[in-house]
Amino acid sequence: MPQAKVCFIGAGNMTRSIISGLIKNGYPSEQVCATNPSQPKLDALQADFGIKVTNNNIDGVTHADVVVLSVKPQLMQQVCEQLQHVDFSNKLVITIAAGIPAKRYQEYLNQPIKLIRTMPNTPTQLGVGMTGLYADDSISDEQKSLCQTLMETGGKVLWVEQEDELNQVIALAGSSPAYFFLFIESMIESGIKMGMAEDKARALAEQAALGAAQMVIQNQDLSLSTLRNNVTSKGGTTAQAVETLEKGNLRGLVDSAMHNCVARAEEMA
Ligand code: NAD
Repeated sequence: MPQAKVCFIGAGNMTRSIISGLIKNGYPSEQVCATNPSQPKLDALQADFGIKVTNNNIDGVTHADVVVLSVKPQLMQQVCEQLQHVDFSNKLVITIAAGIPAKRYQEYLNQPIKLIRTMPNTPTQLGVGMTGLYADDSISDEQKSLCQTLMETGGKVLWVEQEDELNQVIALAGSSPAYFFLFIESMIESGIKMGMAEDKARALAEQAALGAAQMVIQNQDLSLSTLRNNVTSKGGTTAQAVETLEKGNLRGLVDSAMHNCVARAEEMA
């Protein structure tokens, strides 16, 4: 594990998830710092993980080898502009903000920088996240490896070759936990309509979702349609349900949802 000094700008949910993974994986807490305007989140991070904290972004960044930009996209310009007088020539910048193109950070910070764009999702907080990563040719293998090590503490990572592929990462991984939540929610609502208690319906639906995901992950040699056909006897109950989903054009709906997700990401860029 590299021992670079890492400073997180913004001590919100994603920062907490990543720091939690880092510390659990043995990263030295004295090498990790987080900044935030308000004190309570910093106090909590310090109490839980023993990291350094500060209200002063410039202080935090000045002492760091790696700066992780973890504020909401709409605040990014303002936060970066306040850092324009810090010398970034020996620092690696990692951003987890959605939408903002890599070249924009250079403008905001008013200097050439080494930047890696990442797109994590919320299961990162449980160590089962998926993070898309993009770096241009100016980033060394060592810097890529450092970033990968940091982000892998939250789960798996996938490098993309083109920056705009990160928008597809958003559709497939960044935003997609919400699609699964909606599907499970719909199943629970239907179970309740059939007369089942909510806690029972939830227990059944959530375990089925976990089981289905594990079946997919642990059977890489089988296609999804084979997995589906293996549990779909002709004329049986599953066939009836799947046929209803197909007739209702579930695939078309998912396709529209994902295209709209990418379109929104492009609009935000
Ligand atoms: P959040 O609101 O929980 O955290 C942002 C933090 O930044 C807050 O604690 C806020 O107080 C702090 N902040 C505000 N102004 C600041 C300033 N001037 N200096 C320092 N800190 C400041 O948001 P989040 O969900 O952790 O998201 C952070 C970034 O991660 C966003 O850019 C978002 O696009 C990206 N992201 C989030 C998710 C997700 O699922 N939550 C997934 C992928 C990427």
